[in-house]
Amino acid sequence: MNKTNRLLNRLIFSILMAGFISFPGYGQEEYKDPKNKALNELYSGGSFYEVQNYAQPTGKKQPKNIILMIGDGMGLAQVYSAMTANGGHLFLENFKNIGFSKTYSSDNYITDSAAGGTALSSGIKTYNGAIGVDPDKKPVPNIRELAEIKGLKTGLVSTSAITHATPASFIAHASSRSSYEDIAADFLKTNIDVFIGGGIKNFEERKDGRNLSKELKDKGYQVLYNIADIQKIKSGKLAGFTAQEHDAPMPERGEILVPATQTAINLLSQGKKGFFLMVEGSEIDFLAHENKTPGVVLETLDFDRAIGAALKFAASNGETLIIVTADHETGGMTLNGGEYKTGKVIGKFTSGGHTGIAVPVYAFGPCAEQFTGFMENTDIAKRMMKLLKLN
Ligand code: ZN
Ligand code: MG
Repeated sequence: MNKTNRLLNRLIFSILMAGFISFPGYGQEEYKDPKNKALNELYSGGSFYEVQNYAQPTGKKQPKNIILMIGDGMGLAQVYSAMTANGGHLFLENFKNIGFSKTYSSDNYITDSAAGGTALSSGIKTYNGAIGVDPDKKPVPNIRELAEIKGLKTGLVSTSAITHATPASFIAHASSRSSYEDIAADFLKTNIDVFIGGGIKNFEERKDGRNLSKELKDKGYQVLYNIADIQKIKSGKLAGFTAQEHDAPMPERGEILVPATQTAINLLSQGKKGFFLMVEGSEIDFLAHENKTPGVVLETLDFDRAIGAALKFAASNGETLIIVTADHETGGMTLNGGEYKTGKVIGKFTSGGHTGIAVPVYAFGPCAEQFTGFMENTDIAKRMMKLLKLN
């Protein structure tokens, strides 16, 4: 082989590897768009919503229910950009117990959402890309499964495909996060009471020819395809699909996350033994990968309003613990300017991928004080399991 050929081969190999590494979507890849950089950095302000104050209930020593809310990629800058955009206030301000989570995975200082989700669901550090399996690829039990075994009701809500890494970590066991069809099939192995999210194609357009939606119906699930129908459901098991793959980003997708959260809470709170619900604001991460301040702001505001819906329930219910955190920070975001009066925010990004910085943890309800100070991301899962007496 002559020198030119060798160089050509190396070039082709590099191009192939670059394509391989950037697949599947929204992992660690660079999404920076050098065009319109200034435009992408500026959120020029919008309308504000009112933030209610909720006092943390006293009286109950242990939570009966836990709602874990994961803002994918939501570091402090993402939170504070939304707070600024809403005139200086968020529902998150009701959380008086605040800590920090160390997000590193078993094989990387910077985690992905699979290892990050598995840490939060199962209490173990694993390798990037792993869904509910340990570094030796052995399945590990997650909090939702353990809650189900104990007779609690369980649910998942997401604005991404319900088979994407974060929700998948609470249902499936897969050595690779991109095994979406296997992850969808794992839903049928469980007795999950409610799930709402995208990802229809992984249930209905499958290489193995199975129609998992039909199988879900046969198992007694109400299978629905839009949020208007989903939010009418008042009892029974529910599989609510909102998109072929991921929901559109805000504002295009409209009101999905808040009514989905309310619907899930309504259904799950009918159980006598309590419930575990995971709610994900999935696309804070997507827009942070793209280094788009307006998108980050709108996604974080949407997630905060879902937090508001959970707070409304928890404040009156009195035995519900809400934990809000992130799997990791995305974009290395900081704020180089802002204005509370108009809600203007100028974001800056240092990365098109995830970063290794610790992320905030917010807790409200019985035993919220156990989630303060610095902690491992795995401690969050372990403490939740202990509080629900699952281990
Ligand atoms: Zn990401
Ligand atoms: Mg996610």
